[in-house]
Amino acid sequence: MDVVIIGAGIGGLALANGLVADGHRVRVLERAPGPRTDGAAVTIFGNGAAAAAGLGVPLDGLGGDVETLEFRTQDGRPFARADLRVARRHTGFGVATVPRAAILERFAGALPAQTVRYGCAVSDPRVGPEGVTVAGESADVLVGADGYRSVVRRAVLDGAPAIRNGWVSWQGLTRSLPELAGDVHARCLVGPAGLCGLMPAGAGLLQWWFDVPASPPDDGAVLAWLRTRFASYAEPVGELLAGLDESDVQPYPHVLHRVPARWGTGPATLLGDAAHAFPPSQAQGANQALEDAWLLRRALGTPGDPATALRRYERIRSRRVRRISRLAASEVTNLPPGPLTRLAGRLLTPALTGRLHLATIRQCSSVLNDDRP
Ligand SMILES: Cc1cc2nc3c(=O)[nH]c(=O)nc-3n(C[C@H](O)[C@H](O)[C@H](O)COP(=O)(O)OP(=O)(O)OC[C@H]3O[C@@H](n4cnc5c(N)ncnc54)[C@H](O)[C@@H]3O)c2cc1C
Repeated sequence: MDVVIIGAGIGGLALANGLVADGHRVRVLERAPGPRTDGAAVTIFGNGAAAAAGLGVPLDGLGGDVETLEFRTQDGRPFARADLRVARRHTGFGVATVPRAAILERFAGALPAQTVRYGCAVSDPRVGPEGVTVAGESADVLVGADGYRSVVRRAVLDGAPAIRNGWVSWQGLTRSLPELAGDVHARCLVGPAGLCGLMPAGAGLLQWWFDVPASPPDDGAVLAWLRTRFASYAEPVGELLAGLDESDVQPYPHVLHRVPARWGTGPATLLGDAAHAFPPSQAQGANQALEDAWLLRRALGTPGDPATALRRYERIRSRRVRRISRLAASEVTNLPPGPLTRLAGRLLTPALTGRLHLATIRQCSSVLNDDRP
């Protein structure tokens, strides 16, 4: 089959690898002039790692392993702790925070030369019953992996944009707080000003972010605004902020798509954020893009009409993604703990909290449930 994928993000490149391995002809059209190097790091859980391995591009050895995740109140008192090693014991895959550029490099590097065409912004994909036309070329199947502002989504689904919910992540990946960066323990401090997250990302890098339900004044002085806003938070928040430059901080507004049951028409479909962008509060967006790629490759490997296989893929994935999308949209992990959360934190051991987290991931996972389209 001849497949055109729009977008060389995590989802598009992962799919390309799986399809090339199955003998399909694959072209990936990417509007950026070269491989993306921004976007800090993403945390890959057992489901995303299993999907990448299943597509033939394991993420082994990348980023920093994360064994525990602790939530603290703004004054530094722990109220919940998850032992994430539970995931490795049950799925064979651990949790790691990996620079986005490293994932893209691994995925792109595993593809035959010329598979990815950079500097190719697609504006008017055309879809008919017999095939698709994109950038003047025809193909059997079109996959829109072009992110939350997807042009493919507009062409095959509807014009409704992903909606901002008012929260913004201010994030970066820097050589800050070496003790934390070199560790396997991640930490989040949460209070009325928002959440500060700190994750080791390997090779001395620390992934940090501030999730805030507000925007800074228009004068561009984001760091001064964050320093004031988070001034009452326990260390190492102040120490981190004191060591940053304005250029270290990148804003990412939280957006949310409706997740319809159908993601395309005829031989065209969507994948990843193009289909179901949701806020990063559950750290599952890239994991779900990998899950989509894993199931879509399986769907396109079934005999029969590709359009029918695509609809089966969409039905399964939309059911799985809807749950995690709702949870992420609630931003519950970014809110100060209420009495119930505190009580649960006192009663649950880290191992049990880790198991509950794994159960949440299983619910939204096709790869861990061996879904068959
Ligand atoms: C602050 C923040 C933190 C996050 N943390 C995590 C995390 O810890 N774990 C996790 O799993 N997820 C996380 N996510 C979510 C994750 O980044 C996304 O869900 C994931 O990148 C989606 O991948 P994708 O391939 O679908 O889309 P994208 O990564 O958006 O890639 C889309 C690609 O398509 C290209 N493109 C767009 N339009 C066109 C066009 N017209 N023509 C050609 N090319 C085009 C773009 O240039 C881009 O390269 C986070 C997101 C944010 C904002």
